[in-house]
Amino acid sequence: MLLRMSSLFLRTLRDDPADAEVPSHKLLVRAGYVRRVAPGVYSWLPLGKAVLENVTRVVRDEMNRMGAQEVLFPALLPRDYYERTNRWTEYGDALFRLKDRKGADYLLGPTHEEMFTDMVKGEYSSYKDYPVTLYQIQTKYRDEARPRAGILRGREFVMKDSYSFDLDDDGLKRSYEQHRETYIRLFDRLGIDYKICFAMSGAMGGSASEEFLAPCETGEDTFVACRSCGYAANAEAVTTPAPPARELDGLPALKVLDTPDTPTIESLVSYVNEHYGLGITAAQTLKNVVVKVAMPGSDKKETLVIGVPGDREVDFKRLEAALSPGEPEIFEAADFAANLGLVRGYIGPQVLADLGIRYLVDPRVVTGTSWVTGANQPGRHAADVVAGRDFHPDGTIEAAEVRAGDECPRCSSPLFMDRGIEIGHIFQLGRKYADAAGLDALGPDAKPIRVTMGSYGVGVSRAVAVIAEQRHDELGLVWPREVAPADVHIVGTGKENQIEVALGLADELERRGLRVLVDDRPGVSPGVKFKDAELLGMPTIVVIGRGLAQGVVELRDRATGAKQEIPLGEAAGIVAEACRS
Ligand code: ATP
Ligand code: MG
Repeated sequence: MLLRMSSLFLRTLRDDPADAEVPSHKLLVRAGYVRRVAPGVYSWLPLGKAVLENVTRVVRDEMNRMGAQEVLFPALLPRDYYERTNRWTEYGDALFRLKDRKGADYLLGPTHEEMFTDMVKGEYSSYKDYPVTLYQIQTKYRDEARPRAGILRGREFVMKDSYSFDLDDDGLKRSYEQHRETYIRLFDRLGIDYKICFAMSGAMGGSASEEFLAPCETGEDTFVACRSCGYAANAEAVTTPAPPARELDGLPALKVLDTPDTPTIESLVSYVNEHYGLGITAAQTLKNVVVKVAMPGSDKKETLVIGVPGDREVDFKRLEAALSPGEPEIFEAADFAANLGLVRGYIGPQVLADLGIRYLVDPRVVTGTSWVTGANQPGRHAADVVAGRDFHPDGTIEAAEVRAGDECPRCSSPLFMDRGIEIGHIFQLGRKYADAAGLDALGPDAKPIRVTMGSYGVGVSRAVAVIAEQRHDELGLVWPREVAPADVHIVGTGKENQIEVALGLADELERRGLRVLVDDRPGVSPGVKFKDAELLGMPTIVVIGRGLAQGVVELRDRATGAKQEIPLGEAAGIVAEACRS
């Protein structure tokens, strides 16, 4: 492959695009890899398309090696498949819905569990047919609330999705493990740094699930990791170790205290310590946060109260994950006005049962724990409010913020926190979709066996942005060779015969099987060409410049910046060697 800059469809930009905040977005636009069409909708230009193809090739290669078989579904899908699983409704506003000319409902596929299940049901009937794993690499559509960072979170994006079909739980576990190993291999090949984290099952409904998160300052996911036992989890999925329940006998009785002007936890703690000598910390108070929860497809909203230790905020992402597919919303002043039993700033769980409001608590709120909390009257709080005696939670919820230094749920060491971008997700779905579709295999005894499934995704277009995010410097992109649009970028500078020599070397390297980009633009200054070479980010750069008079050219490594003068006569061999190592 030989690309000439003189005719390549490429314009690099000197300035960052105005709407770009993260490095990968800035660089991919400046380097002419992608162009924006609408929020979260992007076009790929030749160099960008080349990277996307390279990522796709690696993914396909590893999926095939695992024994998965490639198929391709349409993105335009009729409503009924998604109606059967209720996802037409449950998917909420993120689903692109449209009508055809006859008024029939369609959607643009956000993920394809239903379609794969139906396809297998159509083709297979006997237990002898199983197991099978199918995949596709295809364009997905999601009307994301916050399309962001260019192709990192698009509304149209490329995903590899695969689905395993097994006859029993052991089979599903094997398929899951195979995917896990395949993902490790493919993300290693793509040069992505990642962490495998326990994940929430969320709207998919299922059991075991892990996410591959690429650590990145700009990541939207927060994860914790334990350096002693290796536990890692998306913050959404972190479980809080619950202390043992305590005896109720002998605990002091609830007392109501006047605490004027103490609507915040800090004001409360200092007031009760000063005026009542309680000597408590914020962790001994119980903060009650009211939300309304909307269920997709229903107009009604449930009022729900969440109780967390007062030294912690409710983490809205954790709350969303815990309530999914329900969607929590802020409880506004008008909602308080309509619920006079809920006294803003002074809510205590003592009255919730009488008000008919569900109360979910942090796992630390176990029977026998004693709290300072609201007394449901303005300016008053209650002390010695005991769980299991003065109030009875309707259940627990993982909604309190997770903090660096919290206990590892597995080994109790302190947890570390970091941010990351989800690049892959593996998921034991179980029988949810097989149940909806009635997917059975006929067993050896002629009895039907309900099939069990896994679903597994890789963000193919997102991976391009993630690599750019993890591999760049202040000058530009630094592609790993496996995904770079070319192995080597030859820069011909100067007024003599440098460009001719550059083209000659390019031909020679192409004959040796390298993918070559050569800057043969006449009348463009060396400074501009160097800047472009750094911005575009091919792993190896060869400069044919003034040294040519002495018979030498310069070999640069884009990643390390190492430079070396090499004789022109041996250049092809040395460069080819550098590109293979
Ligand atoms: P996220 O939490 O980032 O929204 P998700 O949990 O919705 O992702 P999945 O449904 O598991 O994602 O999709 C599989 C993979 O597809 C993800 O791991 C991610 O790499 C990619 N992906 C998901 N949404 C997008 C998007 N809007 N743009 C680009 N890639 C995406
Ligand atoms: Mg996911």
